Amino acid sequence: MATQTREQAQTNVDRDTLGAGANLHVAAGVVSSSLKRTLRAPPPSRDIKALLAKPWGQVFAPSMCHYETTERYDAPVGDDEDALEEGAAVWATATGGVMAYGPLQVSPAAGVLNYGQGLFEGMKAYRTPDGRIAIFRPEENAKRAQEGCRRLCMPPPPVKFFVDAVKRCVAANASHVPPHGMGTLYLRPMVLGTGAQLGLFPAPTYSLVIYASPVGSYFRGKQADPIDLHVETRFHRACSGGSGGVKAIGNYAPTLLPQKKAKKEAGKDNCLYLDSVENRYIEEVGTCNIFVVAKDGTVRTPSLTGTILSGITRMSIIQILRDMGRTVVEERVSIDQLTDGEEAFVTGTAVGVCPIGSVTFNGVQHSFTGDRALTLAVTEELSGVQTGSIEDRRGWIEAIEF
Ligand SMILES: *Cc1c(COP(=O)(O)O)cnc(C)c1O
Repeated sequence: MATQTREQAQTNVDRDTLGAGANLHVAAGVVSSSLKRTLRAPPPSRDIKALLAKPWGQVFAPSMCHYETTERYDAPVGDDEDALEEGAAVWATATGGVMAYGPLQVSPAAGVLNYGQGLFEGMKAYRTPDGRIAIFRPEENAKRAQEGCRRLCMPPPPVKFFVDAVKRCVAANASHVPPHGMGTLYLRPMVLGTGAQLGLFPAPTYSLVIYASPVGSYFRGKQADPIDLHVETRFHRACSGGSGGVKAIGNYAPTLLPQKKAKKEAGKDNCLYLDSVENRYIEEVGTCNIFVVAKDGTVRTPSLTGTILSGITRMSIIQILRDMGRTVVEERVSIDQLTDGEEAFVTGTAVGVCPIGSVTFNGVQHSFTGDRALTLAVTEELSGVQTGSIEDRRGWIEAIEF
């Protein structure tokens, strides 16, 4: 913290957002024995409606989490077990906690600034109809972050450490979780190489930062508006052997130009990327995975070959479809299989499920004109479970304790 000590920030934040009782709990990071835990969340702040009216991602919740490792981490190149063990040892020495949202102080020689040594995650907290605040499959985000850390020579935070930090961030910002049905609190965890290291080597020390932004619902009706996609043949998002399979921060800046071009020059909502070798197999759309429903009802989604990000929404939708009795195939999916499809949709934490209205490939537009019955069915099941309005039979949601 640049302007106040961590302790001061901690106290201010907790007093502002939680009241005295919850303060003890969050500050200590454990339950004080005199406090009875409850799943009943504090109510939303009175100006939440005004905050949700602002552009997506422009409003930040008052608290963030920031942990910094203190001991030098030297990434093992051997098996995953070593990295998990050594990572856990390094995070066990981390200092920090919940503090006021604000600028980070980092060295200009930080690994993340010079060499992009960093990754992010995306999650959401939802307010349920019965007054709880829930998060969706947080262990999956933690495990994915661990894999990304391995790829980028960063210490993998233990699953429990990661999930507890996320929960603390949500608890501290409970007043900024919108009312049920009005929106969500988007959570952005990051693992960053913040230690100074001028040479091209892994940074000596790391930060886990989690901040949050209250966001409105993408759609008011039953489903998001269908998106029109430009099939991108010149630029690629990921290549074999690269970092496309993890949420490395460096994967995203190169997609800004093609995305802008698709909007400005082609009038489309986003790009659909193809494989970088044959330019024939569909991969991903921005930060979303893609699904195609064939005329015979089979659902196809590109398999995880290393160039595709393993979405938690993707894995959940596969499960939901299988529970509905559908056949889901994970394999290479060609552009022809997409345009021959009955319906198609994209999935990701930010949008949930979003139907594809059309794809334009080499100047030829193909529109999906069916009733999108399956897209709607999976949308309702997923968002129902996430927001707590449908019973969670799969153990996917976890309520925050106060
Ligand atoms: C984050 C992301 C996704 C979606 O992952 P979810 O866990 O479902 O949010 C898909 N593709 C890319 C490239 C991503 O960065």
